[in-house]
Amino acid sequence: MASHVVGYPRMGPKRELKFALESFWEGKTSAADLEAVAKDLRASIWKQTADAGVTLIPSNTFSYYDQVLDTTALVGAVPPLYGWTGGDIGLDIYFSMARGNATKPAMEMTKWFDTNYHFIVPELGPETKFSYSSRKAVNEYKEAKELGIETVPVLVGPVTYLLLAKAQKGAPKGFDLLSLLDSILPVYKEAIGELKEAGAKWVQLDEPTLVLDLEASKLEAFKKAYSFLGADLGGVKLLLETYFADIPAAAYKTIIDLEHVSAIGVDLVRGAKTLDLIKEFGVGGKIIFAGVVDGRNIWANDLAASLNLVEELQRALGKENVVVSTSCSLLHSAVDLKNETKLDAELKSWLAFAAQKLLEVVALASAAAGKKDEEFFAANASAQASRRSSPRVHNKAVQEASAALKTSDHRRATPVGTRLEEQQKHLNLPILPTTTIGSFPQTPELRRVRREVKSKKISQEEYEKAIKAEIDSVVKLQEELDIDVLVHGEPERNDMVEYFGEQLEGFCFSANGWVQSYGSRCVKPPIIFGDVSRPKAMTVFWSQYAQSVTKRPMKGMLTGPVTILNWSFVRNDQPRSETCYQIALAIKDEVEDLEAGGITVIQIDEAALREGLPLRKSEQADYQIWAVHGFRITTCGVKDTTQIHTHMCYSNFNDIIHSIIDMDADVITIENSRSDEKLLSVFRDGVQYGAGIGPGVYDIHSPRIPSTEEMAERARKMLAVLESKVLWINPDCGLKTRKYAEVVPALTNMVNAAKQLRAELAK
Ligand code: GLN
Ligand code: ZN
Repeated sequence: MASHVVGYPRMGPKRELKFALESFWEGKTSAADLEAVAKDLRASIWKQTADAGVTLIPSNTFSYYDQVLDTTALVGAVPPLYGWTGGDIGLDIYFSMARGNATKPAMEMTKWFDTNYHFIVPELGPETKFSYSSRKAVNEYKEAKELGIETVPVLVGPVTYLLLAKAQKGAPKGFDLLSLLDSILPVYKEAIGELKEAGAKWVQLDEPTLVLDLEASKLEAFKKAYSFLGADLGGVKLLLETYFADIPAAAYKTIIDLEHVSAIGVDLVRGAKTLDLIKEFGVGGKIIFAGVVDGRNIWANDLAASLNLVEELQRALGKENVVVSTSCSLLHSAVDLKNETKLDAELKSWLAFAAQKLLEVVALASAAAGKKDEEFFAANASAQASRRSSPRVHNKAVQEASAALKTSDHRRATPVGTRLEEQQKHLNLPILPTTTIGSFPQTPELRRVRREVKSKKISQEEYEKAIKAEIDSVVKLQEELDIDVLVHGEPERNDMVEYFGEQLEGFCFSANGWVQSYGSRCVKPPIIFGDVSRPKAMTVFWSQYAQSVTKRPMKGMLTGPVTILNWSFVRNDQPRSETCYQIALAIKDEVEDLEAGGITVIQIDEAALREGLPLRKSEQADYQIWAVHGFRITTCGVKDTTQIHTHMCYSNFNDIIHSIIDMDADVITIENSRSDEKLLSVFRDGVQYGAGIGPGVYDIHSPRIPSTEEMAERARKMLAVLESKVLWINPDCGLKTRKYAEVVPALTNMVNAAKQLRAELAK
């Protein structure tokens, strides 16, 4: 029986690609050096996959930056700004699109579906002329072949590519990206033709937009695309790959009728309902690539359960029509458990990173073909059993407390308007108060201090002294700048989730479990393996110290339960909502300890609230209810006089604005400056928002220092739609990635902008 994986992490087990890219970008190494590292990585991944026994091995899932940008190169859709004049697209043009350079900004980046991976958004317009401009796919296919490895080249499918693009600036209003389908398809055809010439037997086309709720006209595009691409393909078979959710029934019916498609890949981990569609409507004579091994998590597969599922499909479709696969690309999992030396054996037995998932796929395929590796299955079954019953996972007190939450509502008794009045009585803030989002620049010196206390190279006292000195200087700077509500700068935190995870029960941390976020940037999500509880206060010590050195209000700074959840690898043995409620209880205790410790303004960051929104509309309402409830649990116990802030790094709120209001924070600070005032349109459309709100007046992602006038002008636009008494003035996000040389002038201008506006309002 055949086995398949949708894609594989490209960074390497020790993030080799990251380091090679960064040293190339810094000019320390040559393009040839970078290419050599990339070639080695590809070879070792193919060999490892082949050695594991996978029969359908992906190629062209490597990327120097992003697979969608690779597709932009494939079809030659370089925006005019980058000065490409035809011919093969080289690394210089490629990286200038990805990262910008001294004279050109980077292309926009956005999240890949509901993952934490970011892709480069294609910019297309009526003038875009497509041409076959990157032979990467065929080159990689041949490269593997030379190593004696037959692969399945993977391309982002043409319809998904167009649907994820945005209209170029200057395109006519309402420009339909799918109108480009006729002109992009010949390029795909040419690419697939070359793959066929080179000997490819399968081509995988990733069309994950099929899991969204697409209207009929968009589904038509798939019919058109695949009848064009599939005609006279000779021996090449097309695999249409979907992932991340169930396929809606209408889309499912469309794709099983696609005459020239030989196989369909389905995500059976996130999409439990697709199985019903398969049973009800059949598969139109196609092979099903059954994605039973989770590509988005790090848990060992429950092999017995997956085998049942695969056998059920075999009975329904015939043995030859089922291939065992991963639910999506393994890009979203960590690379190799082998490199984890600090996790204990029991925990490790519960986990499987990408390299281990290859073995799971093969074990399932062999078992389904009647050659079950009994030993492998038995070891897996005993690990599953130990996880189900382990006292490290299950804490009765936590479970009871969180179960009790679900049935009741949690909110502060007094309405927000009255609370704000009570708070103002002692905060005495000016109109248009200024604040920042939390972190101040993270210097190499701070990183060193944190590293050295961890490795016990310096004592706890030395560490505290260094952090206190940093807080002193951040406070002094903010007082000099005349900012109204201060922050301590978060010098003790490496990461806004890890910092809390390390202090909570139920979390563990890998040493090398990196996952690509974008380009060379990787994140190492904490692993939530058990019931969550808080042994002791986590931030009170530092917040109290910071408050003690200033008379101005000092914000206590926490990460909210939804963000901790969405930026971790979450357990799969209970609903996400359950884990969220458990974290909420821990954060609630922290909020109340801060309040008892004399902190009167507490910010609970929910940077990742929006990104947890399920892809399918039918599941979104439920998520919003429990996520917002989880947030309110953390704040429901505070006094009216305690001011609760929250912060979000996302401004496309139009669809969830009512949930945001329902969070019932006193003040919300939001990203705004990069997003063409999408946020303001919400208020222009008449949404009533009575709480404080601080739409960011400057983009902290850029080294650019905005002028006083520019920031004042942004705030004036807000004043046109919001009452002056609710408006706050602040940057878009935390300042940790910036340098002081940028932060000081930018904040100076920001405070001046606020003062200028106050003067204007007083007239
Ligand atoms: N308080 C955090 C900081 O300033 C918030 C970061 C974020 O929203 N991503 O760094
Ligand atoms: Zn932010």
